[in-house]
Amino acid sequence: MATKPKVAICWLGGCGGCDEAIVDLNEALLTVAEALDIVLWPVALDYKYDHVRAMADKEIKLSIINGNVRNSEQEEIAKLLRQKSQFVLGFGACACFGGTPGMANFRTKEDIFNWVYRDAPTVVNPKGNYPQPKSTVDGRELTLPEFFETVFALNQVIDVDYYLPGCPPPPNLIANAVTAMLENKLPRKGSSLAPHKALCDSCSRNNTKPAKIQLNEFKRIHEIEAKPDICFLAQGVLCLGIATRDGCGATCIDINMPCRGCFGPVEGVKDAGLKMIATLAAMIDTSNEAELEKIAAQIGDIAGYSYRFSLPTSMLRSLSQSAAKKGEEVGQ
Ligand code: SF4
Ligand code: SF4
Ligand code: SF4
Repeated sequence: MATKPKVAICWLGGCGGCDEAIVDLNEALLTVAEALDIVLWPVALDYKYDHVRAMADKEIKLSIINGNVRNSEQEEIAKLLRQKSQFVLGFGACACFGGTPGMANFRTKEDIFNWVYRDAPTVVNPKGNYPQPKSTVDGRELTLPEFFETVFALNQVIDVDYYLPGCPPPPNLIANAVTAMLENKLPRKGSSLAPHKALCDSCSRNNTKPAKIQLNEFKRIHEIEAKPDICFLAQGVLCLGIATRDGCGATCIDINMPCRGCFGPVEGVKDAGLKMIATLAAMIDTSNEAELEKIAAQIGDIAGYSYRFSLPTSMLRSLSQSAAKKGEEVGQ
């Protein structure tokens, strides 16, 4: 009897929604599970990392990894699965671009620890304890994973073969991706296993999208009663469908919410946030500085809006990091 391909499913720095999306395959999950030998899925099955450590290199056909990398344990597991796998699939916005937890990169580790262990109104920490990678209690050494300075997308830590975006990815694309992997019908390495066009192209409201979008007033979605069949941009509400990859089935648009970009940038765009900011700048119908400031204030948190899912992979971020590194080197 032919052996079944081994598959590992693993959750690093994420919310669990991506694992839940795999469970949401429902009956299809039974067919998938029948065709595969699942060797690691911590959320569902009691395998240990030592089972994986004992395997030969590349023994696993496919590792499906969701979540980003924020600490040393997640880094270690990502590297272990890379070593043991023929293919690694970055699964979900967190693995692909850093995801919403990646917005933590707007703050330093010190800011985050101070808030969580000292300043938040619900904190009770009279001794001012902060988590330490190593500590001694009753003569025993205890260890915790080291919390990194920043959040990393998966491909900033290991080589990633394919990407499946979404927060979380939808079941039809998950089933297609797993089938393509198992049948060796894969596109070129580095591809996204989602459509290559923009969400606008398949949006049911596209026929009401203005040919030239010129706005001098933005409204937040909670400030209006949005018409359910008119393009959000035509209603003055920011919608990231213009700069976002298609494939989610327009889930948000269908419940009358604008797109916030969880499928990441469209094909060929490296920086989703920059693309959105550039598109936004082209939409704003004024060159008067005071008016520009007023319009920008209506949008609120432009950086947060544009980089909601992709801050760790932003080009601005890596530029500022290399500038800081250069500064350190010069200061040495
Ligand atoms: S991509 Fe979304 S659903 Fe998946 S782990 Fe990240 S936050 Fe959760
Ligand atoms: S901007 Fe949004 S609402 Fe308008 S067509 Fe594109 S996805 Fe649809
Ligand atoms: S509409 Fe946008 S934010 Fe909503 S699921 Fe689709 S890609 Fe993600």
